[in-house]
Amino acid sequence: MSLIVQKYGGSSVGSVARIHAVAEQIAKLAGQGNQVAVVVSAMGDTTDRLVELAREIAPDPDLREMDALLATGEMVSTALLAMALRRLGLKARSWNAMQLPIETTSHAGRARIARIDARQLKQDLESGIVPIVAGFQGRAANGDLTTIGRGGSDTTAVALAVVLEADECQILTDVDGVYTTDPRMVPEARRLDRVSFEEMLELAGQGSRVLHLRCVEFAARYGMKLRVLSSVEPGSGTLICQEDRKVEAPVVSGIAFNRDEAAITVARVPHHPGVAHAILKPISRAAIDVDMIVVNAPREERVDFSYTVHRDDYEKALELTRSATADYPGATVEGDDRVAKLSVVGSGMRTHAGVATQLFETLAMESINVRLVSTSEIKISVLVSEKDLERAVRALHRAYGLERAPSS
Ligand code: ADP
Ligand code: ASP
Ligand code: MG
Repeated sequence: MSLIVQKYGGSSVGSVARIHAVAEQIAKLAGQGNQVAVVVSAMGDTTDRLVELAREIAPDPDLREMDALLATGEMVSTALLAMALRRLGLKARSWNAMQLPIETTSHAGRARIARIDARQLKQDLESGIVPIVAGFQGRAANGDLTTIGRGGSDTTAVALAVVLEADECQILTDVDGVYTTDPRMVPEARRLDRVSFEEMLELAGQGSRVLHLRCVEFAARYGMKLRVLSSVEPGSGTLICQEDRKVEAPVVSGIAFNRDEAAITVARVPHHPGVAHAILKPISRAAIDVDMIVVNAPREERVDFSYTVHRDDYEKALELTRSATADYPGATVEGDDRVAKLSVVGSGMRTHAGVATQLFETLAMESINVRLVSTSEIKISVLVSEKDLERAVRALHRAYGLERAPSS
């Protein structure tokens, strides 16, 4: 008998019919003698609609109330799924984060899971009850409801799987696995049978929303077997696991992209120590995360300093940088919030040269300008105009031959 934690995403429980279908699937897995604990997201685009509703009430809603609002979406789907399972004759019970509890830090909208009290869930499993847990939410030490960041139900599922010492954590979604890039953008994208934790961390961190970044971090840290599967069609999906050292790692495994970027450039700031600090300190004080940072080579004792932030933080970051650099004579601040970042990821990059050359050659042939570049051991990211993103991703997917299965 295996203990499996399954997580169903928004589109997988997007309608009454889908909830019934998911219940059937859970019943089948339980009927095969497995213990099953389930995590669910809010139905369909409920969370987006709640965000819109809040903005209609107040343009800049209070973060505590925002969390109280957004957490309701997951509570609806847990109760409905439990009802659907009971209708099939299974014992099932819904649980929210306050009831268990799932304790988090107190950062509204981006809290982190600190501890899960799984006693009631273990009792359910031992008594043959399927516990259905609300993803994405938690309880702060002061008793407030919190949420753990958009797409966070994946992370709830893995954290739960770790605490319950499950044999496997399955993320069931509207694609049948992790692809070489988003198959909605590139129809030739190919499903990967396996992806290493390391590569998946980069892909998720660079914008592949198929898995929430912290869910991959958790799984890697605790060695939890993590699988992405379709909630509609049967199949073996994609296993996220330790890198197989016996098999040569692919040079490029996939391409991730992120449209939520905005770039800010301060041109002609004095080239002396402390300038970068003076520009970035107010940004970090305002709790704005900075992604890419580039300082150009100095010319006549002056440099251009560029950085990127999430598009939601653009106006604020621009304003802070304008005031931080107001005393530098001749310096100008420019911003662009119509940029996007694409990242080419592959463990084999460590030992193979030429990936960057091919990237720049391909983008040059497409007449696409590269605005910023950043690299890690297994990733190259470039910032391009948002209008060029799709063309760039398609061209690079072709250039690296990602549509073809690697020859073994
Ligand atoms: P859920 O609601 O189930 O959490 P998400 O919308 O968060 O589903 O994630 C699934 C989506 O991720 C897919 O529909 C797909 O468009 C997108 N996606 C982005 N990159 C990839 C990738 N490399 N492989 C598969 N899907 C991807
Ligand atoms: N419902 C939340 C969201 O839309 C959490 C999730 O789907 O994982 O972001
Ligand atoms: Mg998701």
